[in-house]
Amino acid sequence: MKKILLIATGGTIASGRTEEGLSPKIGAGELLQYVEEHRAFCDVDVIQPFSLDSTNVYAKHWLELAALVERHYQKYDGFVISHGTDTMAFTAAALSYLVQDSRKPIIITGSQKPIDLPVTDARTNLLDSLRFASDERAHGVNIVFGGNVIAGTRAKKERSKSYDAFSSINFPSVAVIRDGRIVFYIDDKDRVDGPVRFYHTLNERILLLKLVPGTDAAVLNRLFPYYDGVIIEAFGVGGLPEYGEEPFYPEIRRWTDAGKLVLMATQVTHEGSDMEVYRVGRVIKEEFRLMEAYDMTLEAAVAKVMWVLGQSGEPEQFRRMFYRTVNHDILLGEV
Ligand code: ASP
Repeated sequence: MKKILLIATGGTIASGRTEEGLSPKIGAGELLQYVEEHRAFCDVDVIQPFSLDSTNVYAKHWLELAALVERHYQKYDGFVISHGTDTMAFTAAALSYLVQDSRKPIIITGSQKPIDLPVTDARTNLLDSLRFASDERAHGVNIVFGGNVIAGTRAKKERSKSYDAFSSINFPSVAVIRDGRIVFYIDDKDRVDGPVRFYHTLNERILLLKLVPGTDAAVLNRLFPYYDGVIIEAFGVGGLPEYGEEPFYPEIRRWTDAGKLVLMATQVTHEGSDMEVYRVGRVIKEEFRLMEAYDMTLEAAVAKVMWVLGQSGEPEQFRRMFYRTVNHDILLGEV
């Protein structure tokens, strides 16, 4: 019998009606009572570090969750974290960087409907997660949701209401779960070298700048003192506009000369960036040796930049760490 630790953190799965709208109120022990069938394949202990709508979850909580897993790592065969869906993809990405090369599974799940409703996806998602966390082949950080198992760095919430809220972006699902049966598409536990590595620092001084037609680089100028890194979500395969009172080129020079990290990403969800294609991208990339996110999700890019900057203040080191693949996060990167 596998031993699993259920870490409950709030979210819709644990929510109930209040006069001000849905809010987390169902505790970890009560959640477990809705999925009694788990007793056939695992023993579960529960713990509740916080109970929040995931709108209120950020780096401090990601570090807390990683520390909890670290503290209990030897005692359990796997971990299931119940979590709100709104920022679940960020938490999954962050945990992928904070807990690396784990041969034990760390599963994140939640639901679109509270677990105590007569019609809900919550019971299936929680039971699927416990089942997956109890499977010998499972390892590392994954989201289990709507019958899909998605690598922690590849998930994106693409639907705000449907049960299949999450998609695996630019990468296949790791597995699917249908009527309690797990079918693996990526069965690669043998390739995990181990030992597990835990990290304890993130740098939250990250700015995400989404371009709209007409964006002026003045915003980068004003925000320069407050951030150690900027992710620019550009258009298409990537490039920077040449217009404006305060153009981008000198601003980018200012950030890179100061040793800050500048990462180019794309607003297009699928297929990723490739700045070499157009002059508006290639010239600036070459001049400033800009890094780009390629096929990564934005959520993973944000978490990875926080992790990279949390470990090092040295630009060449950023580059090496950023382009090293972690939990399937980047396939098209460079060295
Ligand atoms: N607002 C909720 C949350 O993220 C939504 C959900 O869990 O589905 O906590």
